[in-house]
Amino acid sequence: MHLKIITHEKAVFDEDVDEIYSKGVDGEFGILKGHIPFMTVLDIGVTKVVQGKDTKYFSTMGGVFQFKDDEGLILTQCAECSDDIDEVRARKAMERAKARLAELGAKIDAKRAEAALARAMARLKAKMNNLN
Ligand code: ATP
Repeated sequence: MHLKIITHEKAVFDEDVDEIYSKGVDGEFGILKGHIPFMTVLDIGVTKVVQGKDTKYFSTMGGVFQFKDDEGLILTQCAECSDDIDEVRARKAMERAKARLAELGAKIDAKRAEAALARAMARLKAKMNNLN
């Protein structure tokens, strides 16, 4: 089967794969060859891809996942392979978002800081080869 991970900027991944794991808004899911057609809205999180003995981890920032006829497609705002993730930058982004959240308390503006925190956490998890 095949997986494409596409952002509005580029194709981050476009290869044959054996297994796909990610997190939709309804929960985590795994896909193997021959899976029935499936579609979900993705959460901000990590997508894990198995190719033979290799496993790759990507941060995927929401969007949609579609699977049909052994073709998987992720359309997402932003995605990075763990090799391309700058861990120091993600840690700094996480600290900034936490500080902002502490400052904001329960205000509406907290949504933006929460999203920044979720992106930073997804990058750190992908970098550490963690799905969850
Ligand atoms: P930061 O505050 O560090 O910019 P951010 O979550 O605001 O983080 P985004 O707006 O999600 O960043 O992404 C902007 C661009 O920077 C995207 O192209 C994304 O791939 C890249 N990017 C963001 N953080 C990292 C990181 N830690 N490592 C590698 N690329 C990153």
